[in-house]
Amino acid sequence: MVFAERRELLDMEALKDTNSETYPLVDAHCHIGTRSHYDPETICNLNRNKPTIQCIMSNNVMDWNVIKEQVLEKNGSSNYDMVKVGFGVHPWYSHLFSAIDEELTKREHYENVLQYNDQEEFETLLSKLPEPVSLELYIKENFIKYNEKIDVVGEIGLDKLFRLPQNGFHMESKTPIKLTKIKVKMSHQVSIFTRLCQLAAEYKKPVSIHDVKCHANVFDTCIREFLSLSHSGIHGCNICLHSYTGSIEMLESQWFKKFPKEQIFISLSNYINLREKHKLTNSGDDLIKAISLSTILTETDYPVDTDGRDKAYLDEHLEKVYDRIRDVYKMENMHDCKKVMYNNLMAFLQ
Ligand SMILES: [Zn+2]
Repeated sequence: MVFAERRELLDMEALKDTNSETYPLVDAHCHIGTRSHYDPETICNLNRNKPTIQCIMSNNVMDWNVIKEQVLEKNGSSNYDMVKVGFGVHPWYSHLFSAIDEELTKREHYENVLQYNDQEEFETLLSKLPEPVSLELYIKENFIKYNEKIDVVGEIGLDKLFRLPQNGFHMESKTPIKLTKIKVKMSHQVSIFTRLCQLAAEYKKPVSIHDVKCHANVFDTCIREFLSLSHSGIHGCNICLHSYTGSIEMLESQWFKKFPKEQIFISLSNYINLREKHKLTNSGDDLIKAISLSTILTETDYPVDTDGRDKAYLDEHLEKVYDRIRDVYKMENMHDCKKVMYNNLMAFLQ
C-alpha cells in the first residue's frame, strides 16, 4: 500500500476523543550513562520534566546495576511507573563478557575476542581491562532473577566501526578518551548477540537492536533466531531497529518481506534519523513514509540520569521527532501523535 492510502486509513476522528494531556510522551530507547562514579542525587531522579514513558536500556554491568538498584529493587516507590526496563549487552561492551563456559584466564579471553596487530597496544589495554564476566552467570543472576520485571532485551546488536578507548571500554568523560586501533572480533559480537536473541525468544521478550554497518549480519541472526521459531508455531518476538541507519530498500526487500510487518518496529531519534545529511535513508521524511505509522517508535538514545538543562534537552529532542512525524502524516494536534506512539509502544512491549 502506498503512503497516501495508508494515511487515509488512519481513523483521525477516533483519535480526537480525549485531551492531549492523557498520553505521555514515549522514549522507546534511552540510557543510564556509563561512568566511573554515579552521583546518588542525580540517579535518584530518572523522572523527566514532561510525563514520558521511557524504556531504559542496559548496556553493561555498570548501568544495569543502577537500573537494578533504582528501579527493580526500590520497594514501594511509585516513582518509576513510567520506566520500562531493558536487559542487554551492547556491542561496545561485548568484550567484557565471555560467551563460552570454558575456564579461560583473563589474558586468554581478551586474546580470543579482540582484534589487534600491535602487541604493545594490546598489553597496555589488557592491563586496564577488568576480569571478564561469564555471560551465562550474568543472565542467571540478573535476567532470570528479575525476568518478570524486564520488559525488553536491549540494547543488543552488532557494530563494525567502533574501536576500544585506551581505558578499556566506552564511558562518559569530561575530556575525550583516546581510541586505540583495537576492535572486538565480529565473531565474538555475533556470539553475544545470538545468545541474547535466544534469551528473548525463549522468554518472549521484544528486542531493541543496535546495528552499525552490519545490516546483513543483524538480519541473518534475527532470521535464524526468531523466524525459525515462529515457523515451528512459536510466535516470534517483536523487533525494534533503533535509530535505523540501513537503507529503505533493505527494509522493504528484506525485513518487511521475511518478517510479519507488524513485528518490525523502527525507532526514530532526532540525532541519528532526522538529520538532513543521512544518506542511506535520504531524509528522515522518506524513512517515516516507508514505515507503517503503527510500527514507528520515538526515542532519544540519551542518558536520562541527568538534571537541569539536560532534562529539557531530552524533551526538546523527543518532541522534534513527534513534530516530524506529525508533519509527514499531517496530524494537526500533538495529542493524535501522542496517542499513536503510546499505542505503538504498548504493541511493541506486548
Ligand atoms: Zn542506545
